[in-house]
Amino acid sequence: MRYSQYLLPTLKETPGDAEVVSHQLMLRSGMIRKIAAGIYDYLPLGLRVIRKVEAIVREEMNRAGAIELLMPMVVPADLWEESGRWQQYGRELLRFKDRKETDFCLGPTHEEVITEIVRGTLRSYKQLPINLYQIQSKFRDEIRPRFGLMRGREFIMKDAYSFDLTDSDADEAYDRMYQAYRRIFQRCGLKFRAVEADTGNIGGTSSHEFMVLADSGEDAIVSCAICDYAANVEKAELRPPASSEKQTASLKAVVTPNRKTIEEVSAFLNVASQRTVKTLIVQTDTGEVVAVLLRGDRELNTIKLCHVLACEWVELAPEEKIKKITGAPSGFSGPVDLPLKIFADLEVEGMSDFVVGANQIDTHYTGANHGRDFSVAQFADLRQAESGDFCPRCDGTLEVWRGIEVGHVFKLGTKYSEAMNATVLDEKGQERTLVMGCYGIGVGRTAAAAIEQNHDEFGIIWPMPLAPFQLIISIINPNDQTVLEAGEKLYQELLKQGIEVLFDDRDERPGSKFKDADLIGIPLRVNVGARALKEQSYELQDRRSGDRKMLPMHEAAEQLIKMIDDAMNVTAE
Ligand code: ATP
Ligand code: MG
Repeated sequence: MRYSQYLLPTLKETPGDAEVVSHQLMLRSGMIRKIAAGIYDYLPLGLRVIRKVEAIVREEMNRAGAIELLMPMVVPADLWEESGRWQQYGRELLRFKDRKETDFCLGPTHEEVITEIVRGTLRSYKQLPINLYQIQSKFRDEIRPRFGLMRGREFIMKDAYSFDLTDSDADEAYDRMYQAYRRIFQRCGLKFRAVEADTGNIGGTSSHEFMVLADSGEDAIVSCAICDYAANVEKAELRPPASSEKQTASLKAVVTPNRKTIEEVSAFLNVASQRTVKTLIVQTDTGEVVAVLLRGDRELNTIKLCHVLACEWVELAPEEKIKKITGAPSGFSGPVDLPLKIFADLEVEGMSDFVVGANQIDTHYTGANHGRDFSVAQFADLRQAESGDFCPRCDGTLEVWRGIEVGHVFKLGTKYSEAMNATVLDEKGQERTLVMGCYGIGVGRTAAAAIEQNHDEFGIIWPMPLAPFQLIISIINPNDQTVLEAGEKLYQELLKQGIEVLFDDRDERPGSKFKDADLIGIPLRVNVGARALKEQSYELQDRRSGDRKMLPMHEAAEQLIKMIDDAMNVTAE
C-alpha cells in the first residue's frame, strides 16, 4: 500500500474526550472515527487490525470444529418473547417497530436466533455435537459507552453456541472452546488470564472470562501466586479464617462524637480497624432490608450477597430509612438490639471483643461479641477478595490484577432450549432437550486491549500477528530518483512474497514520517536513504526496542521475511 494514496488521517493532538490510551491512540493513528456515542467508523488501518483478530479467531474456531454462519442483526421480538427476555432484558436492548408496527430489536447476543435455527434444522442425536458461530456487529445501548472500541454500543463480536445431548458432552464442548480461546489470545500475542467468573442469574452453571492484563481494565481479578487458581473478584472464593479468638471483654458503650467512618472511629478509640466490625443496612429488589456485618477494613461483595439473599441487586438503604430502623445516622449502625435479620462475613465469625456502632448518635460499643450480644442469622463469604488473601485451593496468597474482559465462555444448560423447545430424538427415539453453551469474543475490544498492553509515549507497538502492516518502508528522500527506485524494488519484492507493506512515499520531512510510523506502530521500519544506499544497504529499525541495524540490499528481503515469520509465532507469556 502506498501511503500517499492511502486514507490514513493521523492526528498530532490527543483528542480531549478520550480517557484511555487505546482510545487516544486509535483516534490519533487514524484507525477509527466516532460518528455517535459508542458508534465508530473503522477506517482502513483500523479495519486491517479488526480483520487480523477475526482471522485468528476464525482459524481457531474452525480448528476446534465450530462451523461459521451469519445471523441477522435485526431480530423479531417474537423470539425474545419465547425466551422471556423481551421483558427481562434492560434498556441495553434497542427495541423498535417496523412500518407494520411489528416489534424488533437489534441483536445484543443471539441465543434466541441460534436456538430457533437449531430447533428448525436438527432432528437426530446423530447430528450432534454441533457448534455454530458468527462474527458480526452487535448492538447494546450501553448506559455509558466509553473508551472507544472497548465499550461501544455497536461492536463486532464473535459468538459461538454449542448444542449437545448430555451434560458431559456439553462439558467437553466447553473445554474445547476454553482451549481454543487460550490459543486465540496466545496467538494475538497478549498477556492474559482465564478466570472463573460469576454466572449471574442467567441460570448457567459455569463460566470463565478471558482477561487481558492492563492497568486500565474495568475488571479486578485475583490469581494465586503458586497454583493456577484465578477468578474475577466478583466471584473469588475466600477461605474462612482458621481459628476463632476467645471472647474476654464485656460490652461497653463509649462516646464517639462525630466519628462515623471506620478510620475516624478506630483512630479515636485507638484500636486497629481490623478490630472493628461495620454494619451495613442494605435493601434488595425483592423489598427485603437486612444488616450485613464485615470486618471494618473490608469491602462488601454485592454479587456474593445477592447469591445468599437470592435477589437481583442490593443497595445501601437510604439515610432516612436507616435512621428510622436504627434510630441513629448511618455511621452509628450496629448489630446489638437491631430489629433486622443479620448476615455476617465468615471473617467476623472468628472475631471477638470488637467495636460496633451502638444505634445511637455519637456512640459505639467496644467489647462486642456475636452469640452473646446479638445473633447472626447466617455467616457467609460476603467480602471482596484483596491482595494477600489466602488462595482457596492451596497455601499460596492471592494477587489482584486489573484486566479487560475480551472473551467469555459460558455453560448455559437448557435455559433457552427448554423455553424455545429445541429438542432432538435420541437413539431410543425419545425427545431430548439440547444442552447449550455460549462463547463470545469482543473483536474490537481485543484490538483495544492489545494497544493497552503494547504502547509507549510515541504510539502503538503492535504485536506482529495483529499489526495492520508488518513492515513500513520510509523513503527518506523521495525526490531522489535512485532512492525512490531502491525503495520501490524492495517494496515489490516483499509484496510478491506476501508481506504486508506500507510504502511511505510521501514528500514529507523524514522526522514527520518517522513520527507517523511510530504512532501507527508498525513493528519493523526500513529506512531507504542516500547515505545507506552508498553502502548498498537499507537501515532497519525495530519499533519495540528502537534498535537499528544495517541490512545489506542483496539479502534484505530474505532477512525481513524471516524476522516477520519468527515474530508471527511469538506468544506473550
Ligand atoms: P461487560 O461485562 O464488559 O459489559 P459482558 O459480560 O456483557 O461484557 P458478554 O455478553 O460476555 O459481555 O459478551 C462477550 C464479549 O463481547 C465480551 O467478553 C467482550 O469482549 C465483548 N463486549 C461486550 N460488550 C461490549 C461492548 N459494549 N463493547 C465492546 N465489546 C463488548
Ligand atoms: Mg461477560
